[in-house]
Amino acid sequence: MTINPLMPVYPPAPANFVEGKGARLRDDKGNEYLDFVAGIATNCLGHCNPILVDALTKQANKLWHVSNSYQTELQKELAAKWTSVTFADVVFFTNSGTEAIEACLKLTRKYHFEKGKPEKIDIIGFDGAFHGRSYGAINAAANPNYIHGFGPALPGFKQCEFGNLDALKAMINENTAGIILEPIQGEGGCRAASDEYLTELRKICDEKDILLIFDEVQSGAARSGKLFAHEWAGITPDVMAIAKGIGGGFPMGACLATENAALGMVKGVHGSTFGGNPLAMAVGSAVFEEITKPEFLDHVNQMANAVTQGLESLKDAHPELVEEVRGKGLLRGIKLKIDPQIVRSKAFENGLLVAVAGGNVLRLVPPLIITQQDVSEAIAILDKSMSAVKETL
Ligand SMILES: *Cc1c(COP(=O)(O)O)cnc(C)c1O
Repeated sequence: MTINPLMPVYPPAPANFVEGKGARLRDDKGNEYLDFVAGIATNCLGHCNPILVDALTKQANKLWHVSNSYQTELQKELAAKWTSVTFADVVFFTNSGTEAIEACLKLTRKYHFEKGKPEKIDIIGFDGAFHGRSYGAINAAANPNYIHGFGPALPGFKQCEFGNLDALKAMINENTAGIILEPIQGEGGCRAASDEYLTELRKICDEKDILLIFDEVQSGAARSGKLFAHEWAGITPDVMAIAKGIGGGFPMGACLATENAALGMVKGVHGSTFGGNPLAMAVGSAVFEEITKPEFLDHVNQMANAVTQGLESLKDAHPELVEEVRGKGLLRGIKLKIDPQIVRSKAFENGLLVAVAGGNVLRLVPPLIITQQDVSEAIAILDKSMSAVKETL
């Protein structure tokens, strides 16, 4: 027997998926699954959406890649689209969420450096955060599970309790450069920050010339029921990382910033070979056009209401298992009183894919194009799975 040639950093797969259409996946044995993971909040328009397939194949027949030393119109066009609907004035394209976070962190330190305050380097992050897997991202999130064994912690990163304003105020000093947070924590357990908390963060950052960095890699791209989750609070960040849903399954990310915050990001200080690649721009443009339609957000909110009702009914039906229903829009969690992997496996046996998140949370991040029927089916499978799990306790 030879060893698995893949580096074993991921859990063994329970199925080998070979095909996808909308919210449905098929494995190599012909089994069908309802997908409420969506590549972890990524396939927002479902699998193999014809609009995206068309955009990708058309571009694939024209031009795949040129160096970023030759700016393409495609990149400028998509940047203009994103700036037209957000607080941002400028966009830097990346291939992933982690790289978008790196750009946000570098931009933040460079901003203060250019303003004659090179000592302002501290980035404050929060417990339960997830920002990706680079050194910068793991230090910003400070999850011990992801840092342990990878050498000394990087200087200039601090961690605060999520939602605790007093602790945050006490931590801020003259070296604080930025505050980074997910308006709705994904991996951390689908915890949404309150509007008041976000408003207060904005105020503190304004007073002390601290850059407010939002990580909307998971909560953005219409998933919360607004284009970006921070819109619920009526405030804006200075810098924002986006990825996952903005590519609809094609790898891409972006760092968005105000002109002021990006003042240090001049020629030569940052870059990427693939970031903003024509294939990604073509798919990203098609995704943008779909998710910015007003009726698209209406649909997300209708489905979110249906999911809320469904999850509340599960809580009523299974009080022994369900502690709390969490999250916003179609970034939803059910905090369980048992290991969520048990319910997840049972749901898988019954044909439903769901994810897990920190703090015993079962995470639901379906494609945003799901139907009422999909929601009813998912809730029915969870109900059946929870009943089955109770039998075994
Ligand atoms: C997934 C995720 C990232 C990292 O994105 P990658 O594309 O995996 O690099 C960063 N922040 C949040 C909130 C995420 O959910």
